[in-house]
Amino acid sequence: MNVAVVLVAAGNGERLGAGVPKALVEVGGKSLLEHALGSIQKFNPAQLVVVAHEDHIPEFESQVRASYHGKFAISPGGRSRQGSVENGLALVTEELVLVHDAARCFATAELFSSVAQALELSAVVIPVMPVADTVKRVSGSSVLGTEDRASLRLSQTPQGFRTSELRSALSQTSDEFTDEAALMQSLGFAVESVPGEATAFKVTTSSDLDRARQDYGTRATGIGTDAHKFSDSGVLVLGCLSWTDYPKLEGHTDSD
Ligand code: C5P
Repeated sequence: MNVAVVLVAAGNGERLGAGVPKALVEVGGKSLLEHALGSIQKFNPAQLVVVAHEDHIPEFESQVRASYHGKFAISPGGRSRQGSVENGLALVTEELVLVHDAARCFATAELFSSVAQALELSAVVIPVMPVADTVKRVSGSSVLGTEDRASLRLSQTPQGFRTSELRSALSQTSDEFTDEAALMQSLGFAVESVPGEATAFKVTTSSDLDRARQDYGTRATGIGTDAHKFSDSGVLVLGCLSWTDYPKLEGHTDSD
């Protein structure tokens, strides 16, 4: 399938307050950008365009070069997310495109595949999640009513489009939409959904970052230190060798 991915990663991350663009913030020794690239690499699109923060293009480029093996291009970001999508889309040469937020960097390759597959039959495809909370409509501090949450869904990325249709839609509008599916729907395109995934949550605030570090920060392989008491009898076995001058170590498993 001729699918490109546009990864929008040019946001400042003001709500995160990390002092660097959000995509360069690290979780478990890898930036959000690198985490996102890991899933995209597994999905293996025909083309990748990374939309980078314009003040940090060399850093973005070297991270993409080091952790992504495939055809890619870097585009500078726009003033808004929508502007960044438009900039990235200008470099896409494939017929179909998935637009993805680097801030949803733990979305899996399977989610990309599921959106791409549904895109064979539909003009616009988005992943969605059910709403767990009761949702109120408010005006200031007054609660005006309760929404029917059974018919509500939370929208995620990657979102899939025909490249030429999305490009034309973006060139026609001066309104800002929070996702491209909303823009396409405003122009009369039908939008289909596939099940989203909890892992595709958006890292926006510092508590999202805490959650990301808790869930994904400790999955590294490393060297640990382990201490055991000598017991009164037996022979020490360490590194699969018997050390006959030393007694066995106490432990629940092999103490080795
Ligand atoms: O700010 P927010 O989290 O909603 O941004 C969603 C995604 O859009 C992020 O991955 C961010 O890097 C990207 N973005 C962008 N250019 C902007 C603003 C946001 O690429 N000007």
